[in-house]
Amino acid sequence: MNHKQALKHPIFKIISQSAEALNIDSYVIGGFVRDYLLQRGNAKDIDIVAVGSGISLAKQVAKNLPSQPAVQVFKTYGTAMLRYNDIEIEFVGARKESYSEHSRNPIVENGTLKDDQNRRDFTINALALSLKKENYGELLDPFNGLNDLDKGIIQTPLNPDITYSDDPLRMMRAIRFATQLNFKIEENSLKAIAKNKDRIKIITKERIVVELNKILESETPSIGFLLLEKTGLLQYILPELVALKGIDEVEGQRHKDNFYHTLEVVDNISKTTDNLWLRWAALLHDIGKAPTKKFHKKIGWTFHAHEFVGAKMVYRLFKRLKMPLNDKMKFVQKMVMMSSRPIVLASDVTDSAVRRLVFDAGDHVDDLMTLCEADITTKNPRKFKKYHNNFKKVRDKIVEVEERDHVRNFQPPISGEEIMAAFNLKPSREIGIIKEAIKEAILEGDIPNEHNAAYDLMLKEGKKLGLKEMI
Ligand code: ATP
Ligand code: MG
Repeated sequence: MNHKQALKHPIFKIISQSAEALNIDSYVIGGFVRDYLLQRGNAKDIDIVAVGSGISLAKQVAKNLPSQPAVQVFKTYGTAMLRYNDIEIEFVGARKESYSEHSRNPIVENGTLKDDQNRRDFTINALALSLKKENYGELLDPFNGLNDLDKGIIQTPLNPDITYSDDPLRMMRAIRFATQLNFKIEENSLKAIAKNKDRIKIITKERIVVELNKILESETPSIGFLLLEKTGLLQYILPELVALKGIDEVEGQRHKDNFYHTLEVVDNISKTTDNLWLRWAALLHDIGKAPTKKFHKKIGWTFHAHEFVGAKMVYRLFKRLKMPLNDKMKFVQKMVMMSSRPIVLASDVTDSAVRRLVFDAGDHVDDLMTLCEADITTKNPRKFKKYHNNFKKVRDKIVEVEERDHVRNFQPPISGEEIMAAFNLKPSREIGIIKEAIKEAILEGDIPNEHNAAYDLMLKEGKKLGLKEMI
């Protein structure tokens, strides 16, 4: 079957003609071809193999494009990249790779298309479409990747044990593709990953996190985390999650398996949000439970202060994985820290408790509610409904309190300057005390969040502190 249809974007004709002018063969390969055959929408990055110099081909293509885009050359890798509108096109010369036992960097020689397909990670990623005039659009599929696409199988073109050992990042990629595409990893591949798991140590944290994020951004992230756990990779990457596995029983009392619970929460939240960091929060919301787990004769299993411990662990985990320690990390910490707050509230929704929740969560209060709703994993339909109803009440109350009291991003109705002027004060401790009393009164609902009421309270509090009002 011919796949000219895949190549209808004008860029392919230009690449084809540029290659012809240089008298070299060229092919589209990898993700673009795979995603076209899966009808996964238009890929925005295109990989081109030239049987010859990829860099020369990129330069020739740039010359032939009306926009004359800049060509970025990566000499050490023999690759070049250019952008055309919103498409990123990467060019590489066909190559043959051989790995020696002691180095992770392959020895690279020029090769044929077939050599280049051999060095690809998976059969479904080795599919190529010809850009040659004679057979434009022909699919070149030496490993029957088409069949694997059809059956939903991830497997390596060559011996999996060698393929994963040569470049252990491929283990993460296999699991990532299995998650994104909902494919099965072929049995020998899965065994080879389990066997080579400790080689993941030689991969940089940054590249591991790229794959983790892609797993988390998938429709059903649990597929990936279950595979990471099953192959033993998770122990190297996120041991905090592995520690949540298992159910203890003492005197007939059991707690739930917090690993599988966590994965359910992640899948749940992925149905309602695309926010990667909220998904991270779901993944990590219970990590404090492993180190805080205790059994008490009278009350059974407890995880005292696990939210607080968990939030601290988030920082260490981000740091270890070399993830940026920025406001995203702080957001995840905050979600973990506050993850039980709405639950405590749900059975007795008072205005003041909701005001405090909104005050503390600020703009993230809706995300926090989304996390709590995803956290409902009970299999009892009556309880499931009841818990959701309770949170619905909290959400309604949040809206109501918000409209009336404006405590989200709370701005004190009386400024420090105003307090200083009223009592003729220099900056002092009393100002802080009065401000705190006003904030507390508003959150408690003793006074409305308004200037006049706050001014009256300020005068009263000042008097208590023995301050004299300026007249
Ligand atoms: P996506 O862009 O959706 O992540 P992709 O398949 O395009 O998927 P890229 O990382 O863009 O993945 O790589 C492009 C192609 O390069 C792949 O399809 C594959 O053929 C090859 N490739 C990438 N990384 C490796 C690797 N570690 N080992 C072998 N081949 C690889
Ligand atoms: Mg790609």
